[in-house]
Amino acid sequence: MSAAVGTVAVVGAGAAGAVTAVRLLERASGRLEVLLIDPVPGHGRGVAYATADPRHRLNTPAGQMSASADDPLDFVRWLGGQAGPGDYVPRAQFGAYLADFLDRTVNRGGSASLRRIHARVVGLRAGRTGASVRLAHGGAIEADAVVLAIGSFPASTMGIAERLRESARFVADPWAPGAVAAVRETGDVLLVGTGLTMIDMALSLERPGRVVHAVSRHGLLPRAHSNTPAEPVDPPDFAGLVGLSSVRRAVLRHVGARVRADGDWRAAIDALRPLVPTLWAGMPIADRLRFLTQDRRLWDVHRHRMPATTAAEVDALRVSGRLVVHAGEITDAARVADGLRVTLSDGASLRVAAVVNCTGVHEYVGRVSDPLVDELVATGGARPGPLGLGFDTAPDGRILPADGRRVPVWTLGSPRRGTLWETTAFPEIRKQARDIAASVLAAGQQPITDSEEFEPWRHPDRTRDGRRRQHPLWTAGSPSG
Ligand SMILES: Cc1cc2nc3c(=O)[nH]c(=O)nc-3n(C[C@H](O)[C@H](O)[C@H](O)COP(=O)(O)OP(=O)(O)OC[C@H]3O[C@@H](n4cnc5c(N)ncnc54)[C@H](O)[C@@H]3O)c2cc1C
Repeated sequence: MSAAVGTVAVVGAGAAGAVTAVRLLERASGRLEVLLIDPVPGHGRGVAYATADPRHRLNTPAGQMSASADDPLDFVRWLGGQAGPGDYVPRAQFGAYLADFLDRTVNRGGSASLRRIHARVVGLRAGRTGASVRLAHGGAIEADAVVLAIGSFPASTMGIAERLRESARFVADPWAPGAVAAVRETGDVLLVGTGLTMIDMALSLERPGRVVHAVSRHGLLPRAHSNTPAEPVDPPDFAGLVGLSSVRRAVLRHVGARVRADGDWRAAIDALRPLVPTLWAGMPIADRLRFLTQDRRLWDVHRHRMPATTAAEVDALRVSGRLVVHAGEITDAARVADGLRVTLSDGASLRVAAVVNCTGVHEYVGRVSDPLVDELVATGGARPGPLGLGFDTAPDGRILPADGRRVPVWTLGSPRRGTLWETTAFPEIRKQARDIAASVLAAGQQPITDSEEFEPWRHPDRTRDGRRRQHPLWTAGSPSG
């Protein structure tokens, strides 16, 4: 990309796309056009912050959600005294803030400009110095650089029995516009999954006289944030740790020491966050797989917590019997008058008006049915990340094509799950957006040399002689929820 004039296409206008666009507009020194492409209006909101339900709260305090990395209290000031830095505000407010943050940047003017394009991107072909982005309604856009800010993919329904999936009373994606509003006002409901999506749906769907059932294999709910947060603690020194067993021991020692010091484990878990990408990258693939199958649930429920106020609402629902959590699986489902009869492995037989898939978003590129992702993987424009999670990326966020060519395509957030693991929450996305904007703009000024090419890719699903390997995660049920 020429430094003086260029076009950057940012695909996806959720939180990641909006903040990347802002960073590009702020940093550009010459003329630059940023194209922000998303079929969904309401830039900045994406999946997480489009909800209008005020009971859907941020799971991060307002003081950590500034969109500006240089001004940590920007969001708190924007709230205008409605909440303090330690408060967990409705996600809708954060969505409005992000949209306003983008508008404020655009209105300030400058040498760079923003064009919003309402379209779905269905194809991407990249050369060494530019890329062509194909739109669903026809036509293509030529850009000097592309940032894929496409977020996570909707929850998988693979682990759910076909008879249930095909029922009109099954809600496959609770975040799809109008999905929850379509659930009947009367009758019990069953939520599949017991993570943060289930918590949101339980709050949205609870009604007097209704029992909300929730089921997951482990029956574990996210832990709650503390009402009186402890002082942050410094990250422990985990230098030189290799292998899951030694990481497990070190984490237990670190958390145990904190609990002995002040009785609370939360600050110790939070202190691990910046270390995760390095620990993850240094772990052999077999250990990462062991983490996903043996430790992920426990990690998730401690790391991704709900606000204490939300936890109090959930506790009240459970005490009153209006929310019942089951540890088990669905063993049978049949259509009955007015709904479905669902049998669970714990012996419960439920008559429900709807079953809602709350197994959470997923990141396995081999499992999604998305034209852009399918084409990228099929043409070798991108290769799946370690364990099939998201895309494989270089340290600067560049997408790595199958043949190792260096192409001007970057990604951030959830699609980097396989390489970073800790990459989905807004504080991590904000930092990545800043780094990617710098990298995109710098790339326009540097000639490409052959020494910068990456290793070609070998499919982890194939042996050296091309035979297919069984991949335990791609054949198992949904990993989340
Ligand atoms: C329900 C929920 C609640 C959350 N709460 C919090 C929280 O409280 N705090 C926190 O830190 N993190 C939270 N997160 C994590 C969240 O992932 C990030 O904070 C952030 O919202 C992710 O933004 P994103 O832009 O990467 O993805 P998304 O929000 O998924 O946005 C991606 C956008 O890309 C568009 N898109 C996708 N494919 C294409 C295509 N082919 N062409 C064009 N456009 C496309 C989509 O339409 C969408 O608008 C939450 C996540 C969820 C799902």
